[in-house]
Amino acid sequence: MDTFETVEVLLDVPLHGTFTYLAPHALPAGTRVEVDFRGRKQCAVLVGGVANSALDPAKIKPLAAVFDELPPLPAALLRLIDFVSAYYHYPKGAALFTALPTALRVAQAARLADRRAWALSAAGLADPPPARQRARLALWQALQDGPQAMHDLRALSAQAPKVLSQWLQEGKAERVEPLCPELEVADGPQLNAEQQGAVAAVSDSFGRFQPWLLQGVTGSGKTEVYLHLIACALASGRQVLVLVPEISLTPQLLQRFADRFPATPIAALHSSLADGERLQGWVDAWQGRAGIVIGTRLSVFVPLPRLGLIVVDEEHDGSLKQQDGLRYHARDLAVWRAHDAAVPIVLGSATPSLETVANVEAGRYRRLLLTTRAHAAASLPQVRLVDTRLLRLNEGLSEPVIAALAKRLQKREMSLVFINRRGYSPVLACPQCGWTSGCKRCSSKLVLHLLQRVLRCHHCGWEEGVPRVCPDCGNVDIQPLGEGTQRLESAIQRLFPEARVLRIDRDSTRNKDAWDEVYRKVHAGEVDILIGTQMLAKGHDFGALSLVVVLGADGGLYSADFRAGERLFSLLMQVAGRAGRAEHRGEVLVQTQWPEHPLYLSLVAQDFDGFAARELAARREAHFPPAIFQALLRADAHEAHEAEAFLGRFKAEAAPWLGEVALFGPAPATMARLAGRERMQLVFECADRRALHRCLNQALPLLERLGRQAGRSLRWSLDVDPTEM
Ligand code: ADP
Ligand code: ZN
Ligand code: ZN
Repeated sequence: MDTFETVEVLLDVPLHGTFTYLAPHALPAGTRVEVDFRGRKQCAVLVGGVANSALDPAKIKPLAAVFDELPPLPAALLRLIDFVSAYYHYPKGAALFTALPTALRVAQAARLADRRAWALSAAGLADPPPARQRARLALWQALQDGPQAMHDLRALSAQAPKVLSQWLQEGKAERVEPLCPELEVADGPQLNAEQQGAVAAVSDSFGRFQPWLLQGVTGSGKTEVYLHLIACALASGRQVLVLVPEISLTPQLLQRFADRFPATPIAALHSSLADGERLQGWVDAWQGRAGIVIGTRLSVFVPLPRLGLIVVDEEHDGSLKQQDGLRYHARDLAVWRAHDAAVPIVLGSATPSLETVANVEAGRYRRLLLTTRAHAAASLPQVRLVDTRLLRLNEGLSEPVIAALAKRLQKREMSLVFINRRGYSPVLACPQCGWTSGCKRCSSKLVLHLLQRVLRCHHCGWEEGVPRVCPDCGNVDIQPLGEGTQRLESAIQRLFPEARVLRIDRDSTRNKDAWDEVYRKVHAGEVDILIGTQMLAKGHDFGALSLVVVLGADGGLYSADFRAGERLFSLLMQVAGRAGRAEHRGEVLVQTQWPEHPLYLSLVAQDFDGFAARELAARREAHFPPAIFQALLRADAHEAHEAEAFLGRFKAEAAPWLGEVALFGPAPATMARLAGRERMQLVFECADRRALHRCLNQALPLLERLGRQAGRSLRWSLDVDPTEM
């Protein structure tokens, strides 16, 4: 009994603190174990720390199992989780389990492919099989040259698995870590002077912490800069972490990496991986086998023992921020990791976030500019505004737009019609009484899907049939408001009956095969006019697009959300970047009722810096981030008054120690009802980040107490540096 020691573990529970168990012998921090917690078997992870001395030693339960198929989780990961938990004010155990791949969150040994190679032992080497055993001799000869993967051995002889397990038993063969493949770097284009300058600057900072902003429009050659830097890092035996938005993690991008580094194992981690695949990629990175990890936001947690460089592409992209559970920002955590590992980090974008722009201004980040398109023949597109105030519209399209489309059709060039759907969707409405198709479960509108003949809520998923008459007044002439992609498709098809039109939206690209089909058609020249939304803005190379038409952009100009302008500008720059990627000088037409708006004038001039300077000044004036720091306390319940009472009580009790932190609210959230729950919020604001965090630290125990006292239906959460209000 006296050989037992107490250990502290983290559990996947919404509780702060650690839990004490008895271990059969000393175990290192990071060990995965199984424990009995409140009558249930759960996975837990050992951490440092001492047991609460008030615990009755007789009541401490022993660990139920210790999993040792993998080494203990590395200290760097546990350090990152310490930071995450403190910064986002989120229970450490729950944070750690968010970071782990699903297969390591359960109380089971992980099942992993054995990636070790086969080798001959000294005894095996000294004992070649006789010549008449041809298969055995061939295997023996291959192994004489060095360790081999079973995959290659099986190619020599189908009997390889049987023979080698026999040799293993006889002590003639052994399992060894495979040799690192020699780095191979395929040729890429010769870098231009700006690209060379960027590569030189960043590689000069290898081995120390330095954040870089690589700012350049689409097609300016940012990815080419990443690839050169990655080659440098790999050449010095380091690993590289590349974070990208979900939407740009395409087979094309992965292929570009694989083609450039044909011998380097690459772990690609995206959300559609099966649990086993994700685990394997994660472990390959952690064990140092994968040279490059490319993934979406969750990959920021992947352990990399030889980390040498981090790249965050499209660093302004909203998908880098997690919007539920642990609400972390992968870019910000990546910067923390770069600091912790003392390595440079490159944040790339055509339209950096204003947070990053402010960090450049403050001298914390350094900026590298790519000012021209890298591809010699490609130039920046020409952006023109089409003032629709004086024009008659035909199915939502103005005369100049129709003429431009007709011209491309005649020249057999491809056009893109882009519909900005932020705050804008085909909602069914009655022109007589003003009825609109609202969702019964939340405060959103139901969107009309003509093909399936349903009304669907894009927020909570509610679906219902399309009414024949207005439910309020019986009018038979109910119509969709705004332009959906489907309605636009039929309008364009009517205007240009001979055109081959392809619509791309969430419905038409539900799976990967659908995307492949889109690419095939586009590159085979089988499309004249592409119609689509946000999904078309980023990442995809559609080759010869010579015209981009933007509809519905005005919707983002005047919004309650102070970030709406930043998002609209970035989106429009991205869309404009679709034009003229290849040999054609692209043209972009933006239909608007506000042609004098400064945002559009900056867009016409392709002047991000001018836009950012003006926007940043306005944010400072109005005391909005990044000039100040925010946290959001959300509460939701079946009844609005429950949520409001909870927030009100918190505000009253917190008042004495708020100090310089200002509290706004309670107010209804922008989506005041979601899936049958009423949502309210309270905003914390402070110019001093540390003061804000001190305040949140004090708020936490109070919130937990009030949460326990509130009704059963109440839920609350904290969002530090919120991006959606
Ligand atoms: P970004 O990541 O900024 O969109 P890419 O790196 O993808 O830009 O480059 C756009 C295109 O230009 C790619 O086809 C790329 O191969 C090509 N390219 C990049 N750099 C050069 C260069 N220095 N010379 C010629 N072509 C280049
Ligand atoms: Zn709904
Ligand atoms: Zn009506």
